[in-house]
Amino acid sequence: MDNEGKKTRIVKDIKVDTTKCAGCRACEIACSAFHAIPKFSSVNTARSRIMVVMDEVRDIFVPIRAGDYAQAECNGRNVYVIDGKEYDECTFCPASCPSRDAFKDPDSGFPLKCDMCEDVPPLKKPMCVEACTFGALTYEEREEVVETEPQKFGEMEIGLKTLIKKYGLKKVMDTIARVSKE
Ligand code: SF4
Ligand code: SF4
Repeated sequence: MDNEGKKTRIVKDIKVDTTKCAGCRACEIACSAFHAIPKFSSVNTARSRIMVVMDEVRDIFVPIRAGDYAQAECNGRNVYVIDGKEYDECTFCPASCPSRDAFKDPDSGFPLKCDMCEDVPPLKKPMCVEACTFGALTYEEREEVVETEPQKFGEMEIGLKTLIKKYGLKKVMDTIARVSKE
């Protein structure tokens, strides 16, 4: 649906029920195999986009999916206390960032981010959910109505408009074509 300033989009959620997580790490294995090149050619959980934080003494297992890359360390961090134990400030953070090795490709060092196993054709469920036989991970799709932003000119548009005004469209197009080949 697209009408008057509103549109719908599909939001994909993976719900995590930590009380059902057994710490088996099948989700990590499935994720790393799916993202191996070629697909399913290897398993290396260091390449997984999901990481299970384990505290076997307290029987606490928390799967964390990799989020956005953070270019700099955070100024402020969250400290969690669960069942009386204080966890390190970065323990449950989903970001790949310069201060730790989590969610980085072990060979290239490139950040890893969950892509919800986007594939062609699409999977019915993400691989980690499929692999979780304990029901700790469940997948849901829902429709959400969002406001469409009024069209704004970005920096690039403003710059191009200025150049076109000054030099004319043809000269700008010719220059872009020439520069893009260099
Ligand atoms: S597969 Fe499920 S039960 Fe096993 S570690 Fe992952 S989330 Fe937990
Ligand atoms: S949704 Fe896919 S990419 Fe994301 S953590 Fe699960 S298996 Fe990995």
